[in-house]
Amino acid sequence: MGSTGTRPGRWPVPALVWLVALLWLVLFPRPPGQHGAMPLHGTRAWLSERWRDAGRARVEARLEAAGWHLRAGAGVRVWYPDGEAASAATAGAMLERLLPEVRAMLGAPGPAGAVVVLHPSPGDLARGVGQGAGFDAAGTYHRGVIRLVSAAFWTGGGPDPALAACCVGPAAHELAHWVADVVSRGNLPRWFSEGVAQWVEARLAGGLGPPARPAAGRAYSVLALHWAFGRLPDQDLAYYQAWQFVELLAAAGGPEAVGEVLFRLGRGEPLDRAVAASAGVSFRELERRWRQSVMAGNPWTVQN
Ligand SMILES: [Zn+2]
Repeated sequence: MGSTGTRPGRWPVPALVWLVALLWLVLFPRPPGQHGAMPLHGTRAWLSERWRDAGRARVEARLEAAGWHLRAGAGVRVWYPDGEAASAATAGAMLERLLPEVRAMLGAPGPAGAVVVLHPSPGDLARGVGQGAGFDAAGTYHRGVIRLVSAAFWTGGGPDPALAACCVGPAAHELAHWVADVVSRGNLPRWFSEGVAQWVEARLAGGLGPPARPAAGRAYSVLALHWAFGRLPDQDLAYYQAWQFVELLAAAGGPEAVGEVLFRLGRGEPLDRAVAASAGVSFRELERRWRQSVMAGNPWTVQN
């Protein structure tokens, strides 16, 4: 219509930058030490849940279009490709047994409807999450979707339910990520989620632990863990610290403190306040014990 300015149909760049910055500030959980409830918690939680639901719906639609099959059981939906029906039955039964146990550990009566994608190999799983050949994981959790490598890959075996024993750890770990995400309404720093998942995994998989114990005398700061968990150069140390924190939280406030922290995060409380209210000691005090334990190189422990 002869007007000047930005072209119709395009947002001006500064507006987009501000929008992205605002979304990031609103969606990303705040680090411990910043007191006060999350700003706009209801909006943030709602956006986070829509983001998760949309991701899950997109993955399910793609799998269906690609001809994958669905085994819908009690509380768990397992997607699997041709040739994996027996493994899907084994995995489905195992996941249905584990889910109530994970929920009980985290004090969460819900949720149900976990979406699990069963991959024939770690390479197939890596491709499923858009990663290259160097990505090697037995399980992942992202935006409402759990991905696991089929038990048959590890054992080379058939549908014997005993073969699933190899996969209890990764399944419990990823289910815990999902339950924690739902209960906290996305107000969950990644490092704390990894601590919770390892804490659950260690108990439900019979005390399995990572292969290497990090050397004593080193520890990442809580801010480094909060802002850069996945990019820290020593991932063994980062995971070890995350687990140690949840172990100390459970030791201070009892095992139910872990679920209570998640519940409080879901109400918009910042992590330090949720931890203090659930554990009965201040975040600063727990952080002090944590640092001491990590610097001493204390072993991976299962205390309760
Ligand atoms: Zn994890």
